[in-house]
Amino acid sequence: MGFSTDAIHAGQVPDPTTGAIMTPVYQTSTYVQEEIGKHKGFEYARTQNPTRFALEKNVATLEKGKFGFAFGSGMAATSALAIFLKTGDNVIVSNNVYGGTFRYFDKVVKNWGINFSWIDTTNAQNVKDALKPETKMIFIETPTNPLLNISDIQAISKIAKEAGVMLVVDNTFMSPYLQNPLVLGADIVLHSATKYLGGHSDVVLGMLLTSSETIAERLQFMQNSSGAIAGPWDSWLVLRSTKTLALRMKAHCQNAFEIAEYLEKHPKIEKVFYPGLPSHPQHELAKKQMKAFGGMITIETGSIENANKLLKNVRLFSLAESLGGVESLISHPVTMTHASVPKEERLKFGLTDGIVRLSVGVEDIEDLVADIENALEKV
Ligand SMILES: *Cc1c(COP(=O)(O)O)cnc(C)c1O
Repeated sequence: MGFSTDAIHAGQVPDPTTGAIMTPVYQTSTYVQEEIGKHKGFEYARTQNPTRFALEKNVATLEKGKFGFAFGSGMAATSALAIFLKTGDNVIVSNNVYGGTFRYFDKVVKNWGINFSWIDTTNAQNVKDALKPETKMIFIETPTNPLLNISDIQAISKIAKEAGVMLVVDNTFMSPYLQNPLVLGADIVLHSATKYLGGHSDVVLGMLLTSSETIAERLQFMQNSSGAIAGPWDSWLVLRSTKTLALRMKAHCQNAFEIAEYLEKHPKIEKVFYPGLPSHPQHELAKKQMKAFGGMITIETGSIENANKLLKNVRLFSLAESLGGVESLISHPVTMTHASVPKEERLKFGLTDGIVRLSVGVEDIEDLVADIENALEKV
């Protein structure tokens, strides 16, 4: 089936009791059993919930995987990966991953005697060189937040397979519509569904997807034993949103492309980071592994003063963390999403004070361009 057909139908059947075409919100903590050991496959809602199950099957299908697990947030999904790690293990991580991922690995998991190699994964050879006998996992984010660097999923998955190491890809910035890491050889895909999967800035949820039965067994065990599950209401919201994912992503991509081209020509913008522009260092790789170039654009305004003037003078773009909603957002990574990353660390990968990130929404393009144009006149 095509992507949109799957998005609308996968994991969902009319409700058996009423025929309701939409999966109900099963807001229950437990299920009545007929007699000892006789039930309908549902015993307790941390372990089984039909609304959550529908979402898990739906997004697993969209990622061309077999198994899905929904968690209370993207970070709860990341935390569940700890099931695969023990003291003495090494993990190789992209050096400019989401700030919360850095914080969790560096401030929590590191204390358990697990060490992290923070490297530039845009060069696959760096991954190969960083492999140690104790490496258990490679964790990459592509494109990265906020500089939109791209790592070659296929090349890194080959290296991971040869070394017998698990590859996890944070696919949040692309959504399953634009990139399918499992098809390119990844073992696990991670999503903050808070972003494009949810798409309306009204829910926090995280997901892990895989095609491996052994990995799925471990993840299910972790989801149930740590208990960081997604609730039924939030699952339902995301399930409703995936139905329009393709429509939204096409609009995000088209708007972002036009704004990126506009900004690249603008004399007050020093640099535009957007994978769809030929000036992007990995434009060719982007064309190969992504269906289109996404809705995120990052720009260098030259200084924190310029960044501040731009942020203060936009009207349609709202100053806020997060991304992937239908409305356009603007943010200052250094003081917002990446505030927990030390200055010397962020400067190493080029995250300067003048960097501004745009999450381009699906409003009318003329209005978005006019808003930026007006704000830039004040810079
Ligand atoms: C937001 C985000 C996360 C964390 O997800 P939450 O839902 O906020 O916990 C992880 N990775 C990326 C790339 C993100 O943008």
